[in-house]
Amino acid sequence: MELYFFNTKTRKKELFQPQQPPRVGLYVCGPTVYDYAHIGNLRAYVFSDILRRVLEYNNFQVHQVMNITDVGHLVSDADEGEDKMLVGARRQKKSPFEIADYFTEAFFNHTQRLNIKDPTIACRATDHIQEMIDFVQVLLDRGYAYEISDGIYFDISRFPHYGKLSRLNLEEQLEGARVEVNPEKKHPADFALWRKAPANHIMQWPSPWGMGYPGWHIECSAMGLKYLEGFFDIHTGGVDHIPIHHENEIAQNWGFTGKEVVRFWMHSEFLQVEGGKMAKSLGNIYTLEDLEEKGFDPLAFRYLLLNAHYRKKVNFTWEALEGAQRALERLRENFLRFKEASPGRGNQKGPEQFRTEIERAFNDDLNVPRALALTWDILRGEDPTLEYYKLLLEVDRVLGLGLEQVERPPVEEIPGEIKKLIEQREEARKKRNWEEADAIRDHLEEQGIRLIDTPQGVRWERIKKKGS
Ligand code: AMP
Ligand code: ZN
Repeated sequence: MELYFFNTKTRKKELFQPQQPPRVGLYVCGPTVYDYAHIGNLRAYVFSDILRRVLEYNNFQVHQVMNITDVGHLVSDADEGEDKMLVGARRQKKSPFEIADYFTEAFFNHTQRLNIKDPTIACRATDHIQEMIDFVQVLLDRGYAYEISDGIYFDISRFPHYGKLSRLNLEEQLEGARVEVNPEKKHPADFALWRKAPANHIMQWPSPWGMGYPGWHIECSAMGLKYLEGFFDIHTGGVDHIPIHHENEIAQNWGFTGKEVVRFWMHSEFLQVEGGKMAKSLGNIYTLEDLEEKGFDPLAFRYLLLNAHYRKKVNFTWEALEGAQRALERLRENFLRFKEASPGRGNQKGPEQFRTEIERAFNDDLNVPRALALTWDILRGEDPTLEYYKLLLEVDRVLGLGLEQVERPPVEEIPGEIKKLIEQREEARKKRNWEEADAIRDHLEEQGIRLIDTPQGVRWERIKKKGS
């Protein structure tokens, strides 16, 4: 089936075909490891995970490269302020190298708990200083860069397509970035490729231009070109990367290779919290651990994200997360009916139709909300046959909700008086005395017992007691 993705470069859905099928070169802009990833950052990686899984669903072999930024990303993306790593290190009273190790491990721990697949190659900027120096040297040799007293800068006047990805002209871009103008730069939007380090700077390496450290943008160009061998079929990031980081990567790649190496640029929208921006001052920057401390399953957060298209903003609220957790529990519960059904019963032609429609949704620029709705149509409306069970597992190869591992919890001995109440409710239901049946169900919920009516009879599970 044909596969379409929205390409930020053209602002259109385009037919996707890799340059060397079945291999797909995917570059994912990775985390800056100066702190824990927050749930907004994690949205960007759930998106790239879904993208990868849809590519794999289409039988492509995805070669995924992700950078780990452990040097060079300044407090403002537009080359201003201190290195984020140094700020983080000071706060934690550790060396930048120690916090890089610690937060890289924490990052992958969080992504794994969200069922995000590990990249094929995760590469740290500080392990590739030589590649970056060589890259900068080529840009200097070809006249795309120049040296001033504090570093080597890219000369954007040499690249006529600067600003094409973000569709901003330079004035607009500068207004947005509020770049403090360094009078030695030829143009205010010229950006640092290499910075000369003051003597007391903790992170510095020898280079032809003295001791220093690389800019943030150069790492993605240097490591991407190295590990994807020039074939970037897709490059992803959050929408905030479009106007600066990715414009700069395009300019650098052009200077180095003489062409645009990225075929598809794909960007995920932001996660907002309670309708607004996440900010330290608002105290609303949450990590996966914050969610877990409140008793949420990390996959409930994944489920919440699956409900929205990646190019739409998502509003995170605790109520929405509770809703997602309940929906995920119901989904698992319904899935178990399919798992436990006797094989071979029922429907003949339904599953194929669903399979096609779900694949069509995945392949239409990752329309996961539609695929999820179709999954629910199966769970709610179809007989639990083996064919559907297999289809559900197949769909979950993309959704990543871990259905294969879902088991019924071991049966717990039920206290006598609760058993009696359940029987009383069954009696009431038989007599069509709904009022009494509902009253008993509500009473049990207050005691922390939820009843689930299934075709095989009533089941129960423990839930949080109301008010506790
Ligand atoms: P960083 O660690 O700052 O380099 O960012 C990692 C990723 O998170 C990047 O792809 C950003 O675009 C993305 N990102 C940052 N904030 C948010 C947010 N609130 N919602 C979604 N993505 C975000
Ligand atoms: Zn990047």
